[in-house]
Amino acid sequence: MWMVNPRIMCRQHLLGEHRELHAIAGMIRKRGALTASREFVEARLMHERHAEIEIEMRRREYLPRVVFPSVDPIDFGSVDREASLRELTRRCPRCRARALYWLDRGEHPLSLVKAGDQVASMPAVGL
Ligand SMILES: [Zn+2]
Ligand SMILES: [Zn+2]
Repeated sequence: MWMVNPRIMCRQHLLGEHRELHAIAGMIRKRGALTASREFVEARLMHERHAEIEIEMRRREYLPRVVFPSVDPIDFGSVDREASLRELTRRCPRCRARALYWLDRGEHPLSLVKAGDQVASMPAVGL
């Protein structure tokens, strides 16, 4: 889970996180637990994050065909959103270009799905 604003994600990363969310939900449903790295997952927010990703998918006309399972989220993992944004834009030139484009137009660079005390204030992000 990248937990950045879906608008800044390239097709590959957007669809990749979407697949990951379904995999997380599937694993929780089957086993009631997750085997994943805690710093890459925030399972507690999977429904909200999936909704946020799906809105962007529809906007781009990548039409989701599978309904997200109604499984109870578990409290597992926490993603450092700013570190995640830095890593994604370092690794992927397409996401980086989109991030610069949308930041220029006043979009918030991180996910708007709130995580407890990680307040959605505009962070000073050096891309
Ligand atoms: Zn989905
Ligand atoms: Zn990308």
